[in-house]
Amino acid sequence: MRLNKPNYISAQAAAFRIWKELGHPHPSEVDLSDLAQFRDVTVAQGDLSGAEGRLTRMDGKGIIRVNRKIKREGQRRFTIAHELGHWELHKDLNQFTCSENDMKDYSRSNLEIEANFFAAELLMPPKHFRLAINQKKTSISLLKELAQEFNTTLTSTAIRLADDLKRNIIVVWIQNDQIKWSYSTPKKGLLRVLPGSAPIYSSSTLPREELLEGMDYYDQAKWFPQLHNSPEVIEESIKMANLNCCLTLLEVL
Ligand SMILES: [Zn+2]
Repeated sequence: MRLNKPNYISAQAAAFRIWKELGHPHPSEVDLSDLAQFRDVTVAQGDLSGAEGRLTRMDGKGIIRVNRKIKREGQRRFTIAHELGHWELHKDLNQFTCSENDMKDYSRSNLEIEANFFAAELLMPPKHFRLAINQKKTSISLLKELAQEFNTTLTSTAIRLADDLKRNIIVVWIQNDQIKWSYSTPKKGLLRVLPGSAPIYSSSTLPREELLEGMDYYDQAKWFPQLHNSPEVIEESIKMANLNCCLTLLEVL
């Protein structure tokens, strides 16, 4: 049965079951294509126009095609893990064709969000991820360090951080100075950053060359215009090389 909101728990449980069966190795020790094969899914490269990955299900076997134009290993791995998520979670559907936006968007389709959560759990299983965070402070440099250790994308790593850190983190995705979506762990019931114009005077609107390292106060930035009294927040942003996008980490103090 489909819920009208993403089923995070079943997505995470499905990935956990796979690691449990494999004895919880560090994900960097496991070839992702081998892991997919272990689940009856073959991974191949292909020419996909306008899509990053495609899952086809036939006679109990799956084929994942990954766009051969993907150059970054982290993005390639996330695509495989995302399609494997559809394989494990959405067994009543035989084909998925997923775009780059499907893998970054945590606001539209529940099926895509669930596949993203599965992928994050598979690539960054809690046992190893928590050890890697080990009470470190929130920052973009921690994000990069983790994305490198687990060989995955910054966006999925940021969401994982927001879920696992004991701090109140909100991840905000901005495109062309517009807030497209924000994410905080449902467990904490934090304030929402609403879609709309990115706040001026925030780290997200600074030119790339003026961005400072480390989480800091940007007193004039209004992240919660819907509130009379905004809570205190610190923030740091990273501008993505493509798509005129920016990823901002907010920490509500
Ligand atoms: Zn998808």
